[in-house]
Amino acid sequence: MKIHEYQAKELLRDYGIPVPRGGVASTPEEARGIAEKLAGQAVVKAQIHAGGRGKGGGVKPAASPAQAEAAARSILGMRLVTHQTGPEGKKVRKVLVEEASAVRKELYLGLVVDRSRGKECLAFMASEAGGMDIEQVAATAPEKIVKCAVHPAVGFSLFQARKLSVGLGLDAALGKEFAEIVRNLCRLFMEKDCSLAEINPLAITQEGRLLALDAKITFDDDGLYRHPEIRGLRDPDEEDPLEVAAKNAAVNYIKLDGNVGCMVNGAGLAMTTMDMIMMAGGKPANFLDVGGGASAEQIEKAFGILAADPNVKCILINIFGGVLRCDRVSAGLIQAAGNSEMTLPMVVRLQGTNVEEGQRMLQESGLRFTVAEGLYEAAQKAVALLG
Ligand code: GDP
Ligand code: MN
Repeated sequence: MKIHEYQAKELLRDYGIPVPRGGVASTPEEARGIAEKLAGQAVVKAQIHAGGRGKGGGVKPAASPAQAEAAARSILGMRLVTHQTGPEGKKVRKVLVEEASAVRKELYLGLVVDRSRGKECLAFMASEAGGMDIEQVAATAPEKIVKCAVHPAVGFSLFQARKLSVGLGLDAALGKEFAEIVRNLCRLFMEKDCSLAEINPLAITQEGRLLALDAKITFDDDGLYRHPEIRGLRDPDEEDPLEVAAKNAAVNYIKLDGNVGCMVNGAGLAMTTMDMIMMAGGKPANFLDVGGGASAEQIEKAFGILAADPNVKCILINIFGGVLRCDRVSAGLIQAAGNSEMTLPMVVRLQGTNVEEGQRMLQESGLRFTVAEGLYEAAQKAVALLG
């Protein structure tokens, strides 16, 4: 789960990491009110779940409360397009208004779960070339990025922070401040079950202090049950509406950009089905696993999610009847197709418990189901139906 910069900064503050003073606003007037309480210059920053806002015009300086109001007026409601949003951009509903800082240098500090070592570790990455071009630094000058692994069972040790700060060329005083930030970021990461925590830029100010000017934190969805306070930070406006509907129906759904809608039980079978569609020359519109014990109602809800995606041109249903018997699947499909006045062509492949009964029900339903026996045959029939 992703959160906004202003929420991430509140967490940093809770963990003793210095962040600028400021507040979040949904209207230009509110933005002005916040700027009035801050001394001097401010920055007004679009809050969306994507980076690259600076380059996309979503970060604006303001020399007065009136300018902060004007900046907020121009940013709020805009569709901000950055290299991370896709060409359709993301609508801005909130801005963060903060005290501007005089920056001497921009550092990068990130912490991720590193799966590349075969055993899971946390990996710190830091660079003295932080700021808006960090992706380019990583691609063209990887030697400017220093790394350090933290084993979750062993935990973090101060010498690791020293290694990073020496790599960044920080002097003793800054190095000490930096080590404190690294230690606290690691504590936050482990206590809150993060999958990514990034401060970019971590600024060295003109006064010679470190300050987190931007923050991005992502949480491991599977750890969220332990953190009701983090779950409360979810912003459904930033999430794909179909994925939100799927979450509410307890169905595993990921939207993709093809046009063959898929409904499968079991993640492995769902992956295989997607491969088969590709092999047959089509492109899956989604990953959808209704789970091993899905009810007729869940099948119906899953069906509704598929049908609501305007890109879907045909639907491939591939169910192995185990716990979930084929006749129950058919009952759910017939009910769903009947209710939603479904006009899309559908290919159904059923195997397993009560398969004959399930197929008979489909054939006698009078609805437009194409029945397939084999997995690849089902994929080919679905692709053929695209016309
Ligand atoms: P991103 O582009 O989405 O990563 O947004 P950031 O929050 O990182 O803002 C982009 C850039 O704006 C930063 O890299 C800084 O260079 C600049 N910036 C943001 N806040 C301040 C500030 O308070 N003072 C100064 N001087 N620059 C800032
Ligand atoms: Mn940034």
